[in-house]
Amino acid sequence: MSDIMVEPDLNFIKGLTASGADTVKKCYQCATCSVVCNIAPEGGPFPRKEMVWAQWGLKDKLAADPDVWLCHNCGDCTKHCPRGAKPAEVLGALRKATIEKYAMIKPLAGIASSFAGSFVVAAIVIIGLLAAIGHLNVLANYHEVGEDGHVNIIFNNFLNTHYVDAVFMPLFMLAVLTAGYGVMKFWNDICDGAGLGKYTGRNALPSILPTLLQIMQHNVFSACGVNKDRKIPHLLALVSFILLFITTNWAVVYLYVLGWEPGSYSSLHNPLKWVGNIGAIMLLAGAFLLIRNRKAKEATQSSSAFDWNLLYLILLIGVTGFLAQVIRMAGIVPGAQVMYVLHLIFIAQLFIFAPYSKLAHLFYRTTAMVFAKHTGRDLKVA
Ligand code: SF4
Ligand code: SF4
Repeated sequence: MSDIMVEPDLNFIKGLTASGADTVKKCYQCATCSVVCNIAPEGGPFPRKEMVWAQWGLKDKLAADPDVWLCHNCGDCTKHCPRGAKPAEVLGALRKATIEKYAMIKPLAGIASSFAGSFVVAAIVIIGLLAAIGHLNVLANYHEVGEDGHVNIIFNNFLNTHYVDAVFMPLFMLAVLTAGYGVMKFWNDICDGAGLGKYTGRNALPSILPTLLQIMQHNVFSACGVNKDRKIPHLLALVSFILLFITTNWAVVYLYVLGWEPGSYSSLHNPLKWVGNIGAIMLLAGAFLLIRNRKAKEATQSSSAFDWNLLYLILLIGVTGFLAQVIRMAGIVPGAQVMYVLHLIFIAQLFIFAPYSKLAHLFYRTTAMVFAKHTGRDLKVA
């Protein structure tokens, strides 16, 4: 029988402890967690094996483990663990470690855990833009007063939409590029871990569409039972992102294809505004419900700053976007401008840190689910 050499990475174990997974050492491998998990597949179920790999510090094996992402964080395993080893929290810390491992710009991955730090980076980008166009004084009045005395605030007069686009389009492209870099490296590692060949074994194109349909239905949440109450809030947030993405591209067509003036489509009579406002309401409702659910579970499942940051950021994007519109329509200067700048900073924060924050779950979990479908290792409930 051949010997197996285990080389634990002690720094990795220390990093997990710092991320809130200090309970990992309590695990004594009873496997209750894998038994109670409603979605772990029958063969090689999670999270028991991940607990022992984490205790051994096998960071490369864990980074290339799609099961870390197939977990949907219901917390049932933590509730039933007889040793208080908190396997759900350990898997959460492992997902964060994976995001950091595949980060293209490592310093940004380090800052992503701090809400204040990521806010400052985004604020520097937006305030730098304002400084570049000489509009640093957001308290100055960039408004027009109509013949009827109504104060007409047009954000474009204060911060030209073309300048905003010139900043946000590269930020968006950078997010796509860096997320794509991480996902490709992750994909190669999980394929290597499964011994799949370079070409045919990795061609998972037919599994992409069924996985996306599964995600849109959120059927893992509903079939899991424990996770049922998370389905609606997650769906609200997902659909709101899609609607706001459509709205943004719609505005791009108005501006750059049809040649409309910036701001000429900001009336509530324009269907673009209806779609945008429906998306914003769904975003607010989704963020509110996600925060409420997480708070309600605090007694049995702890959450890290990494978990909270994204939820509060989404809520702040929704609140500042809503208030900027209401204050603009009420003709209140300079409040509308201040709220607009805050809104832009929060959106920049979302874009810059998308591949490094909890939002990266969208990319990595989707990749793991495609892999599971591709290899026939589907979740129990799927
Ligand atoms: S994490 Fe808890 S339930 Fe799971 S194997 Fe370890 S001790 Fe048992
Ligand atoms: S958190 Fe839920 S889905 Fe994840 S391993 Fe535990 S029981 Fe399974």
